[in-house]
Amino acid sequence: MSPHPIFRDDLLAGQVGIVTGGATGIGLGISTTLAQLGMHVVLASRKPENLKAAVDGIVAAGGKASAVTVDVRDQERVQAMAKEVHDAHGRIDLLVNNAAGNFYAKSETLSANAWKSVIEIDLYGTFYCTQAVFPYMKANGGGRVVSTSMTLHYRGWPLMAHATAAKAGVDALTKTLAVEWAEHGIRVNAIAPGPIPTEGVRKAFTPPPGAPVPDVFSVDKAMETWAMAAIPLKRWGTPEDIGQMVAYLASPAGDWITGSIFVIDGGEWLAKSKPAN
Ligand code: NAP
Repeated sequence: MSPHPIFRDDLLAGQVGIVTGGATGIGLGISTTLAQLGMHVVLASRKPENLKAAVDGIVAAGGKASAVTVDVRDQERVQAMAKEVHDAHGRIDLLVNNAAGNFYAKSETLSANAWKSVIEIDLYGTFYCTQAVFPYMKANGGGRVVSTSMTLHYRGWPLMAHATAAKAGVDALTKTLAVEWAEHGIRVNAIAPGPIPTEGVRKAFTPPPGAPVPDVFSVDKAMETWAMAAIPLKRWGTPEDIGQMVAYLASPAGDWITGSIFVIDGGEWLAKSKPAN
């Protein structure tokens, strides 16, 4: 729940949105925020146990949610998922492309499989899902697509050639589809979160197997020290920070916004991009 709710409770009532990777981390923050505003959220990812826990939590809090299992790399399954959601609800108002895979790896030894896996989830998956909802949004007179990008490709980020290349592709896709599908009333935007300490990010701060393992306190302290130095607004982001922007783009307030990429990062990438003095 956002500490500073600004939207009315029924802002998105009667609408249906799919959030890929919507059961964990940032995706869960997005799903929860949308459900709090009355949208029926369909959480879509691979692991039924994560999906069930997230749906149960949203429903227990008074929201409307359901789950579909899907691997976004599987185009046929993605198309079937979109049909299932439309058959069940009669509409698809919003798609949030949030599912992604990522890990640190040296480019010189990155295997073809590792490269392919991240590109397929982040970029192909985003395209497959977006293409799959198109006919339903078109038939409904419009819809919104919001894809989760990042800022690391604005400046280059060692050990993440795969993810940065994929997200650069997501940005390009966002702009192209915004223009191509505007005539159908479909708005296509992206959000670029800064550092949000999800489990994945916490793991990046954890030493690899074999290295000395700090206790939990020292991992937290290392993360806190990093955030204070690297983020001008001097705090980590939260999944709800991101959820609030998606809610805005899903709402009528965003009616004249398409093809835009919104950075939500406490000023982190700008500060990092300052020339050394
Ligand atoms: P996360 O907790 O690891 O979430 C990734 C989600 O994607 C999981 O729910 C996972 O669910 C789903 N997923 C992975 N592969 C999938 C596949 N093949 N098919 C369907 N679903 C799949 O990550 P996060 O940190 O919240 O990141 C969410 C988004 O924000 C990503 O797009 C990421 O690139 C972006 N982002 C994050 C940060 C950050 O600091 N955290 C910063 C910038 C951008 P299953 O395992 O159940 O499939």
